Amino acid sequence: MGESVKCQGCGRRLTAAKSVAAGRGRACRAKVRAAAAVVAETVKPELVAKAVELIADGGLVRVRPTVFQSASSDGTRVYRTAPQGCTCPAGVRGKYLCYHRVAAAIALAA
Ligand SMILES: [Zn+2]
Ligand SMILES: [Zn+2]
Repeated sequence: MGESVKCQGCGRRLTAAKSVAAGRGRACRAKVRAAAAVVAETVKPELVAKAVELIADGGLVRVRPTVFQSASSDGTRVYRTAPQGCTCPAGVRGKYLCYHRVAAAIALAA
């Protein structure tokens, strides 16, 4: 106990267990949902769903203003992600928009 967890959205200290687990407070989780709804108008719903899940699981951590670390789906690897690019296998090929990039776009819009 005693370790303080800050909201990835607004930087406020989190206390509620659900907020700590998600890395975001209730208001910022609502902002993520709203941003995801906007992104969902132009991006495949499966990608948006995976991106929202990544954010909700605390798998997307901001390391610079527009750069994030994102966890691989099995949690064993960490990628560098920005809305424009990602170091994951799909992202490096550059052919497909990966869900990490979608998550980064959602987080920045939230
Ligand atoms: Zn917040
Ligand atoms: Zn990626």
